[in-house]
Amino acid sequence: MVRRSLKSVWHPCTQMQHHETVPLVAVSHGRGAWLYDAEGKRYLDAISSWWVNLFGHANPRINAALKEQLDTLEHAMLAGFTHEPVIRLSECLAARTGNVLGHCFYASDGASAVEIALKMSFHAWRNAGHAAKQEFVCLKGSYHGETIGALAVTDVALFRDAYSPLLRPAHVVMSPDARAACDGETAADVARRAAGALESLLQQRAGHIAAVIIEPLVQCATGMAMHDPVYLSEVRALCDRYQIHLIFDEIAVGCGRTGTFFASEQAAAIGADGAPVWPDLVCLSKGISGGYLPLSLVMATDAIYQAFYDTDTTRGFLHSHSYTGNPLACRAALATLEIFEQDDVLNANQVRAQRITAGLLSLADHARVRHFRQRGMIWAFDAAIDDPAAVARFSRHFFIKALENELLLRPIGRTVYLMPPYILDEAECDLLAERTTAVFESVMADA
Ligand SMILES: *Cc1c(COP(=O)(O)O)cnc(C)c1O
Repeated sequence: MVRRSLKSVWHPCTQMQHHETVPLVAVSHGRGAWLYDAEGKRYLDAISSWWVNLFGHANPRINAALKEQLDTLEHAMLAGFTHEPVIRLSECLAARTGNVLGHCFYASDGASAVEIALKMSFHAWRNAGHAAKQEFVCLKGSYHGETIGALAVTDVALFRDAYSPLLRPAHVVMSPDARAACDGETAADVARRAAGALESLLQQRAGHIAAVIIEPLVQCATGMAMHDPVYLSEVRALCDRYQIHLIFDEIAVGCGRTGTFFASEQAAAIGADGAPVWPDLVCLSKGISGGYLPLSLVMATDAIYQAFYDTDTTRGFLHSHSYTGNPLACRAALATLEIFEQDDVLNANQVRAQRITAGLLSLADHARVRHFRQRGMIWAFDAAIDDPAAVARFSRHFFIKALENELLLRPIGRTVYLMPPYILDEAECDLLAERTTAVFESVMADA
């Protein structure tokens, strides 16, 4: 079965020739945090199948909701029509922002949500008489997806370089990545320094800039670069001062991944008495459907919504996707949000996180580990390896060794990270921590 699929399926993010030596894992079924292959071997899905699966595979509650929805309405177009699942989901999500972001626009994948946010920002300014605002700002090491528009605000060489002739260049500014701290500098100092670099750009170009796009708290795909929440507070203030939209791409960090439902809830708005920082536009995808079905959305403030509200059709936001607001996907998302409530997930995750962090203690202090870091349900550390060929070897060996130890872990270069689903019991937390440590020791012994 594995051999046969080699030519017919072209796999994502893969040099297909590598599979001449490394076989694909043929998954037959999943249950809870575990995936099982055709031979009955099991793998703990410690990266939530590319960060989407929040409550395990074949989750009984999500399954039941989907089965019911399947017998009611599988799909209907969302232009001229509406339906209960999309209305309820939009209201639930808006309520989580205190209705600051009260208007939800739907698509199917993360990159499309980013495209929508960029187009909405530009078009809102254009409708408001500021058509010169056509440029975007992103962070060094940013990742916002791989369609042509999203790739233009992505700064990961591996994904971007081959296509750069096709892309409209964005402004790339200093990342607040806490690993950039100089001697004596705190993470908050780095964040303020990065905000200063952004301000220098805005002083010169604000009249041409539509929006700044940021992955709040953790820049995931570049290697789990974490920053101090004060960065978000500072950038919000700058965007207000210079009249720029702020887009938070919470595709990876949203849905409780960093400890709060939206990552930006951990930042306090300056001068607003502890109120959280809200962007003008937020993108959600990945975990929102519990890892069941492709679903993404952009949530917008009333000011942005009103910029399009008019008798003139062409002033509207005319973007569309065939499966916009698919009822099955929305129902999976509603079932996912219900689990957050029923199981008090954000609090339960704090207990899980403490246990996993305690289990990883020997790695945090390890002589060959740099920058052990954690936020919410994300752990990451960098192997102390510098030679690029050795880094590539480490990354491949770690993945294979982890599979031999019943773990699905895929390092990003020298960065090993864990992003497990929010359902691990105590034994699974311990197993994850112990085996990650053992795999690291064994791979480093060969490195
Ligand atoms: C995964 C991701 C995307 C792209 O989502 P896709 O569904 O893969 O297109 C965009 N932004 C961030 C932060 C992501 O992690």
